[in-house]
Amino acid sequence: MNSKSLYQEVILDHNKKPRNYGALDHASHYAVGHNPLCGDHLDIALNLEGEHIASIAFQGESCAICKASASMMTTVVKGKTRADAETLIKEFRDMATGTLNLDAEHHLGRLTVFAGVRDLPTRVKCAILPWHTLHAALNSVTTTSTEAEDDPMHAAIGDA
Ligand code: ZN
Repeated sequence: MNSKSLYQEVILDHNKKPRNYGALDHASHYAVGHNPLCGDHLDIALNLEGEHIASIAFQGESCAICKASASMMTTVVKGKTRADAETLIKEFRDMATGTLNLDAEHHLGRLTVFAGVRDLPTRVKCAILPWHTLHAALNSVTTTSTEAEDDPMHAAIGDA
């Protein structure tokens, strides 16, 4: 299967059956993210036990790429430490914006199906939004936007 059809298959699958979709009771960390360029809106709730992400859920209204990215993200970061999640956030962002060398060592695994968004400037922020929102939640920033000037990840994402 080539990377393009794998990508389409993953997007379709995660849209039909989003993983970890819904509310999370008694979340220790929570954030709401917006991507005004597309209209994506999602919230991410998680529970940290010590340094580990014990549970995580997302919900919201978003396009297929954003929803698939969020669904896949929750499956990958669940059980990981906060530090490992931050590494993945950075690597995913760098992959989506085209600055990650995929031939060098990284931890993205099957998340590399999203590598193609770097060639689709209008979709980059859709794919990144869940990761951006996870970063906000882990750092106790409750509302974030891909377009917010004071957002810590704004400069790094740039204006695609
Ligand atoms: Zn979108």
